[in-house]
Amino acid sequence: MAIRLLYVVIGGGLGALLRYLLSAVIQKQSKQEMKIYCPNCFYPNDENTKYCEKCGSEISWKEESYKSKLIGSLSHKRAEIVILSAKILSNYPGIKTEKALLKLLRSSCNPYIQAAAAESLGVIGTSKSLKNLEDLSTSGSVIVREKVTIAIENINKRNE
Ligand SMILES: [Zn+2]
Repeated sequence: MAIRLLYVVIGGGLGALLRYLLSAVIQKQSKQEMKIYCPNCFYPNDENTKYCEKCGSEISWKEESYKSKLIGSLSHKRAEIVILSAKILSNYPGIKTEKALLKLLRSSCNPYIQAAAAESLGVIGTSKSLKNLEDLSTSGSVIVREKVTIAIENINKRNE
């Protein structure tokens, strides 16, 4: 009797623990997939949130306006916001995005910002980006050159 009870407790405990761990993993994964960054404060909100949980800004689900806000954030004075915007923009390809990232790549003197722009251009850039990237592949700082080289390879692969 006592042994059986002990078995149930341990069995239930282990099962419950496993279920808990598994659900934690699943929740973590799905949360990561459904994250949408607030275009104002960059708080990662859950999908289908209408207003940012942190700053209350309206989160637009129209892709074009979200993209425009991200492009606008490329001229933010805080470098980390510029870097984050440049990275997120790799999910929103198009002429406007490519132009904005190229401008950022050419005009910024911060190698981390340039590296982020180069990385995203590698994902969404066309042959139009190659000239600027090639210029930086020799003149940029080490961290920039590395990302620029990868970006050129990726663009060339897509054009093949
Ligand atoms: Zn916000």
